[in-house]
Amino acid sequence: MAPASTPHEGHEGHEGHEGHEGHLGHQVQEGLYSPNLHRPGLAKCRHHASSEQTPFFELTMLNASSKQQGLRPKAVVIGAGFGGLASAIRLSVKGYDVEVLEKLDAAGGRAYVHHQDGFTFDAGPTIITAPFLLEELWALCGKRMADEIDLIKMSPFYRIRFYNGETFDYSDDTEAMCREIAKFDANDIAGYHRLMQAADQCKRLGFEEMGDVAFDSYKDLLKALPSFVKMRAWKSLYSLVAENIRHPLLRVAFSFHPLLIGGNPYSVTRAYALIHSLEKTWGVHSPMGGTGALVKGLVGLLAHLKVPIRYNTAVKRICIEDGKACGVALEPPEWTPGVDSSKRHNAEGERIDADIVVCNTDSAWTYKHLIAPEHRKHWSDARIDRGRYSMGLFVWYFGTNRTYPDVPHHMMVLAERYKTLLHDIFKKHHLSEDFSLYLHRPTATDPSLAPAGCDTFYVLAPVPNLDSRTDWPAISESFRQSIQDHLEATVLENLGQHIITSKVTTPLDFQNRLYSFKGAGFGLEPLLTQSAIFRPHNRSEDIQGLYMVGASTHPGAGVPGVLMSAKALEKVIPCA
Ligand SMILES: Cc1cc2nc3c(=O)[nH]c(=O)nc-3n(C[C@H](O)[C@H](O)[C@H](O)COP(=O)(O)OP(=O)(O)OC[C@H]3O[C@@H](n4cnc5c(N)ncnc54)[C@H](O)[C@@H]3O)c2cc1C
Repeated sequence: MAPASTPHEGHEGHEGHEGHEGHLGHQVQEGLYSPNLHRPGLAKCRHHASSEQTPFFELTMLNASSKQQGLRPKAVVIGAGFGGLASAIRLSVKGYDVEVLEKLDAAGGRAYVHHQDGFTFDAGPTIITAPFLLEELWALCGKRMADEIDLIKMSPFYRIRFYNGETFDYSDDTEAMCREIAKFDANDIAGYHRLMQAADQCKRLGFEEMGDVAFDSYKDLLKALPSFVKMRAWKSLYSLVAENIRHPLLRVAFSFHPLLIGGNPYSVTRAYALIHSLEKTWGVHSPMGGTGALVKGLVGLLAHLKVPIRYNTAVKRICIEDGKACGVALEPPEWTPGVDSSKRHNAEGERIDADIVVCNTDSAWTYKHLIAPEHRKHWSDARIDRGRYSMGLFVWYFGTNRTYPDVPHHMMVLAERYKTLLHDIFKKHHLSEDFSLYLHRPTATDPSLAPAGCDTFYVLAPVPNLDSRTDWPAISESFRQSIQDHLEATVLENLGQHIITSKVTTPLDFQNRLYSFKGAGFGLEPLLTQSAIFRPHNRSEDIQGLYMVGASTHPGAGVPGVLMSAKALEKVIPCA
């Protein structure tokens, strides 16, 4: 198991024990920190790696007293997704005076919660693994996540329903998995064990060793090269599965996972086999109250740290002086969220000065739209346009006036086509008539997410991103209807008669609501050539004092990925 770094562990670059005053840098020293002279990496860290650390309550008190002195350097975090919330917590604990700016009216980003007609819909992430990454954040604030969040372990994790009606219940129970495999071909059991060994190796090398490395120098890459070689990371995940598993449907069951983080199993590096191991080691969980309960919990931690979050506050421009980020300019008060965000106008609203700016926003969008081209030598428009972006998502949220007790919490309803369907989505950017679906029924675990006797659902179809030029406003309803028909014919009997609330999200919403470049569901596609050092760095390649966190930085999308990116960020942030 990855040593979840406890609050008692130190940080890279820390210089040994210096007593409570210097602990985590909360007591900012005159002369040690000067906002104007501050340079990333130049400030002397006064953190330490000793096990004799200041207890958390003292840490919080130090925070408060430093704040009163008004000495703490200011960090603005743009965006309140999981990455922004986690980094705001880490920065505050590290000694920064943090302010979070969020364009939407609530936190969560892709994990926003829609409330409609008495139903509660988690907009995005639902499969929660590696909960220790969340527990760390509570621990940093001197709290226990278990006191606030009731995390339920899924068993099985999810049901995969193939086009022919056969099903596979995927779990962490090895015997049960062997029984499921034997339903298709018992000869594949040995291959499953080999695959899991490879997955464990990928988790060790790719997640535990590299997950929170900031990868902002070739030294980091050189250090990681032997691990890439051991994992044969240049080969695809699908090829690893196919080397070990022969039955075509089992190959699908063991290779679809990267789709959950925006990767095509045929292109994504086989290092992503780590997902199997991650889920087996730490389980798949769902909190009571849905994923929104986790977001609410993190917002509560920020309140505890006295970190303000300003909602309905969109950053229009990152202010740069002498090559250094020095704050942000907001959209003017008359700005209306949701209007075509690509239409730029000149008016600006309030300006907020800061010593560092941390972007939890999509990196492509940020560089292209929030930073003037003259400040971007590395992330030029041409480089951004050349990037390959993950698929889009069509998500239909609906509530029914009856329950479907036979439908599990998580279900994959797969199409007959696999490779060619993925090719249509990722390579040809063509919206096909058929689709594979992920069906989410959170009321299987927590009935309080719907009115009594009702069920809450969302169904998600991977679709091409906006490179497809699909006219979503024109075809959205017919696409939704065909999904409804398919669900009705397969797993949700008479669905049409029971829908009482409905809402859809298309790639266009990902662009206009979340400022996601090309409406991609998961930011940059997780290709080897867009990973680690080749992914936008946590410490901007172009601008001093500018930092990135979240799905479009290393290690990538998914809740564990963005929480790890906040840890990587913490390593390159100057000491406060
Ligand atoms: C439908 C769906 C299902 C998913 N399922 C899973 C799953 O089951 N398990 C899993 O681990 N992962 C899943 N993921 C992936 C996971 O949700 C994301 O990778 C992760 O939540 C991204 O977090 P983030 O912090 O990087 O960014 P985001 O959540 O995108 O947050 C970015 C925030 O920045 C704000 N913002 C953008 N521009 C500005 C601006 N100019 N000014 C102010 N604010 C701005 C946005 O409004 C947003 O709130 C899913 C994603 C989706 C969309």
